[in-house]
Amino acid sequence: MNILVINCGSSSLKYQLIRSETEEVIAKGLCERIGMEGSMITHQPAGGEKVTTESPMPDHTEAIRLVLDRLLDKEVGVIGSLSEIGAVGHRIVHGGEHFAGSVVIDDDVIKAIEECNDLAPLHNPANLIGINACKANMPGVKMVAVFDTAFHQTMPKKAYMYALPYEYYEKYKVRRYGFHGTSHDYVSDRAAALLGKKREDLKIIVCHLGNGASVSAVKEGRSIDTSMGLTPLEGLIMGTRSGDIDPAIISFIAAKEGIDAEKVIGICNKKSGVLGLSGGVSSDFRDLDAAGNDGNQLAIDALETYAYRVAKYIGSYMVAMGGCDVIAFTAGVGENNSKMRAAICEYLEFLGVEIDADKNALRGEETVISKPGNKITVVVVPTNEELAIARETLRLVE
Ligand code: ADP
Repeated sequence: MNILVINCGSSSLKYQLIRSETEEVIAKGLCERIGMEGSMITHQPAGGEKVTTESPMPDHTEAIRLVLDRLLDKEVGVIGSLSEIGAVGHRIVHGGEHFAGSVVIDDDVIKAIEECNDLAPLHNPANLIGINACKANMPGVKMVAVFDTAFHQTMPKKAYMYALPYEYYEKYKVRRYGFHGTSHDYVSDRAAALLGKKREDLKIIVCHLGNGASVSAVKEGRSIDTSMGLTPLEGLIMGTRSGDIDPAIISFIAAKEGIDAEKVIGICNKKSGVLGLSGGVSSDFRDLDAAGNDGNQLAIDALETYAYRVAKYIGSYMVAMGGCDVIAFTAGVGENNSKMRAAICEYLEFLGVEIDADKNALRGEETVISKPGNKITVVVVPTNEELAIARETLRLVE
């Protein structure tokens, strides 16, 4: 069966068509600037070149229509008719407490996702637009919702409660939810497989270090803690997000700068992280490495501060799980930046963790990068959220 995986943002839409039998990506692409001037679609059939076409996309329904048009195209298309799409899997950012797993989408599910809009005002409405756009263009095709938050619903109360008046949890569901769940689930599973072990027998710490970044503690196959919170702003230092800060800083800066709290939160989301720490050099670790090599001290400090935060979280999750067998690095920085992995693991030397420099230099494959005999095994596992969504979709529609 061919499964169309859709990841809808507020002005973008990423898609992959995956053949479930072989798990190969038949085609993939991206719609950008939806609802704006100069919207374009980039489409790439397997083994072919990327083709970018400027085309007006006033809304997501039109974007989905263009995606289907590309998939059916005589030259760059990969299917002969829409009936060759067996199911659609949607990435949904926030499932609140409603969803502890993926579900087949029906009217009740759509209503429950709508109820979570408050918790993810930038993401969930866009995800819902994607669902409705697919419904309009492909009536009758089964659709599945795969939630970023679902994997972390196994966290115990002591991990997800904030020490605020209890009524805020009761009235507004203010609690830790965690994100990147599809990735933490997939990567912990692959890490166990790489070691020839069952995930249920392991304590795994997954470091998803991308533009957004989070760490999770996966004990016996279940997430028991994770660094992102009510929103993706909490936890690690990220590309542009601050991660943990003293909440009193918000009103302090607001008063000093004469702006409101909402604006400061915007700054914490978009202008902070390594971008902010480096004095504006970049949110991209390749630029920061280059600037550091040129002697830019703020870039060097930003990378050091980033590594320190990740190491502190790893340490705390070792305590939370009562030990650790595996540490897995994934996502853009985790998969590609060997220097950052080495810097983080340096903090773990007292636990006997030794990184093999040659193994650590490898790219793009599942690799053990710690030395044989280390009590804690460190691995790199490329994440594949689209494949994980396709697998969930297949599991639920079959
Ligand atoms: P997103 O959260 O947007 O999915 P990614 O997982 O793609 O992010 O990670 C993006 C980050 O990964 C970039 O900001 C960059 O710093 C880092 N990155 C990607 N490729 C490389 C590379 N080859 N070397 C070093 N860092 C890289």
